[in-house]
This record gives sequence, structure tokens and C-alpha cells, in this order.
Amino acid sequence: MLDLGKECQGALSIGITGHTNPDGDCIGTTLALWQFLKKLKPECRVDVILEKPAPEFDFIQGIDQIITDDQVPFVYDVMIVVDSVPERCGHANTYVMRAKKLLNIDHHISNPGCGDAYYVDPKASSAAEVLYDLIASRQEYLDLIDKELAQTIYVGIIHDSGVMQYSNTSPKTLRIVADLISYGFDFPKLIEETFYERTYIQSQITGRAVLEAFPMLGGKCMVSMVDRKTMDFYGAEKKDLSGIVNELRNIKGVEVAIFIYEVGTQEYKISMRSRSYIDVAKVAVFFGGGGHVRAAGCNMNGNFYDIVNNLMEQIVLQMEQNGQDE
Ligand code: 5GP
Ligand code: MN
Repeated sequence: MLDLGKECQGALSIGITGHTNPDGDCIGTTLALWQFLKKLKPECRVDVILEKPAPEFDFIQGIDQIITDDQVPFVYDVMIVVDSVPERCGHANTYVMRAKKLLNIDHHISNPGCGDAYYVDPKASSAAEVLYDLIASRQEYLDLIDKELAQTIYVGIIHDSGVMQYSNTSPKTLRIVADLISYGFDFPKLIEETFYERTYIQSQITGRAVLEAFPMLGGKCMVSMVDRKTMDFYGAEKKDLSGIVNELRNIKGVEVAIFIYEVGTQEYKISMRSRSYIDVAKVAVFFGGGGHVRAAGCNMNGNFYDIVNNLMEQIVLQMEQNGQDE
């Protein structure tokens, strides 16, 4: 296991980052690590460099200090990439490339581990769970957890485990969560406001995407796409689309849900979820993306129908291998 204190020994500046389009796990983990390192190394400059998080996370301590652009070409002694491979860090990549030392903390099965030292646990529900493990590995680190830090780790865990519902939730996840809520933060409010609540725009665009979804492979696969024109019509941004793929997956009989949105001319972002036997990480990796067995994504170029056909080919291949192609 990676020892955060030891790896950061002698460092006077530490940068923390995660993937583009940061989700609750990425936001929670980067900020929890920030809170932790500020306590562990008060002499150190500690920054989070990340795309601007969605407003429902505004209550998290440190969120207002995130560096959301790369105007300062600062060279950090240590740069820590969480919940991602370094290549997926968007604007923070310039900091990652310049850093004197690179650490990587993740739970993506598609990440073999990167940098000078890394800790990747694909069995963990979330990067936040991995971070908790690293903190819990030493009593002196564990003693630094307070109500604020417990809450921030908790945000990461609930977002990647679907509030401890997805199959990545283990008995260990629940034990950690039990520990975290003992710090006494208002967890029902947190779940409601960061996980379930939708703005009117988010609800509208979700409704539209579900309305236009079409079944493939006899209903085992549900596909929907939102183009730029539709996003502009509803005034929706990419962060407003994150709940759609789960809605598609919830439809009875669906094994694989595929949600696609246009990011540029002939350029699409693909989000996939599966219910029980298709490894969507494998499909995503095939097209240059990554993720988890039940939740993965990638970017694809070309005509929308060709993209759907190419995805179907990989899914059918797996169904044949699993004997699920009847
Ligand atoms: P989402 O569909 O919510 O965007 O992503 C699902 C999971 O797949 C997340 O864990 C996310 O980090 C991962 N993922 C999504 N898109 C990509 C991608 O383009 N590359 C990689 N490596 N992982 C991705
Ligand atoms: Mn994650």
C-alpha cells in the first residue's frame, strides 16, 4: 500500500487532480485528499486542479480554491492523480507532465497504475474508498479525520456506488461508511442534494432522452442520443446529462444501456452501464476509453449510426461468448 506521508516527504508543493468531467467520486476524492494533506503537511502548498465541479458540491470545504484553468504554469514537487489515468486529466495534464514526482490513486480496472508510485484497487467501490484505505493504514493519519473530511470521503463513495447500491459495494464499503457517518454529518441531506436532486433542465433533457431511446438486440440493449441542437434547446450542459444512462438501464429487460451525446462535429461521448453479465469496461477499452465492469465510457468519432453499429458488434461478441445471444 502507498504511504502518502512517505511519498510526499520533503515536498513543499503538492498538486491534486482527477479526470475531466469530474463526477462525485472524483470531486470528493480530490477535495478529501486536499483536506487531509493540508492537515498532514501544514508547511506545504496544496492545490486541487480540476474542471469546475457542478454547483451541488459547493458546500465541500476547499471547492472555492480549486484551480480550474492552467494559467499558472506551476511545477509541483508531487502531483497526485486520483480516480483516473494521467492522460484523462484534461487541462491539468500540463501540471501532471511538469511535476517532479507523480502518484496515482485509483479504482478503475482499466488503469494498470501510473507514475512513480501508485495504488489501484479495482475491488474498491470508489477512489474515495481507496483514499480511506490509505488514510486508515496508519493510526496517525486516521486521527486526522474529522467531520468535514469524513463527509467529503462519504460524498465520493455514495456517488460511485449509487448510494451503496451497485454491485461494487462490498461489506468493507459498508463498514467504512458506518465509520464515516459516526462523525455526525447530515448524510440524508447530502444524499438528497448531491445524488437525487435534479434541476428542471436536467429532468427535461432526461425525459427527452428516455422518450427517444430505442431498443436493440431484442430489448437487451437500450440506446439514446442527445445532439448539440437538443442540448441548446433545453439550455443543457454536459453535467446535466449524467443521470440519463441510469434511467435507460432501469428499463425492464435491459442488460446494456448506452447513452451518447454530441461533443463536436462527428464526435460523440459514450456512456455505458450494464446490469449483470456484459463487461462494458472491455467494450470501452476496445474503443480507447475505460471504466468499470458495470459502468464505462469512451469517445468515438464518425457517423452516429456507424458508432452504434460498432458498439453493438462488441456487445454481441460478448453475448455470444457468454451464450446470452439467444
Ligand atoms: P460515465 O459514463 O459516468 O461518464 O463514466 C462511467 C465510468 O467510466 C467512470 O468511472 C468513468 O471514470 C469511466 N469513463 C468514462 N469515460 C471514459 C473515458 O473516455 N476513458 C476512461 N479511461 N474512462 C472513462
Ligand atoms: Mn470513481
